[in-house]
Amino acid sequence: MVTIDPISLNRGPSSRCPECGARISGGLAGCEAMYHEVVKREFAESTYFVVHNLTESAYTLQHPHEHMYTPRLFAAGLCKFTWLMEYRADAIIGESLKQWLSFERPYELITPPSFRGGLTIVEVYNAPNAPNHVKRVKRWAAEVWDAYAAYQGLGITWIEQSRKLNLPG
Ligand SMILES: [Zn+2]
Repeated sequence: MVTIDPISLNRGPSSRCPECGARISGGLAGCEAMYHEVVKREFAESTYFVVHNLTESAYTLQHPHEHMYTPRLFAAGLCKFTWLMEYRADAIIGESLKQWLSFERPYELITPPSFRGGLTIVEVYNAPNAPNHVKRVKRWAAEVWDAYAAYQGLGITWIEQSRKLNLPG
């Protein structure tokens, strides 16, 4: 079993988020505040909301010590992102995945990658309009997904296990 590296998260004033590496005033707290602004924007307008799931997943996977700090949360975060990136957010697969994730099972504790993509919430926050926001979120998500390349197979394996729940018989 691998354990998540203990990381000394700097919660005080800082110019860099220790999770995603964004240069941002307030460090992690500043990064989270910016993320909440972006989410507010997405909920306010449907033209922004179309990529909300991607925004949420990309941010989660870039901040694993904040949002995927237990084996179960890691599995849920990785599976959701895999479902979005590799299964086109298929509704039927999503339903079996939700069921599969609700079962208790001994998930492995997994160490996230140390580099988690060059783009961050800052680039998304600075998008000048909705079409550009959508484009930036997709590019950001693709970068994060690339950074998790070594974990994609595990995400796919878990989703394929969840799909067996719906097999006839
Ligand atoms: Zn961050």
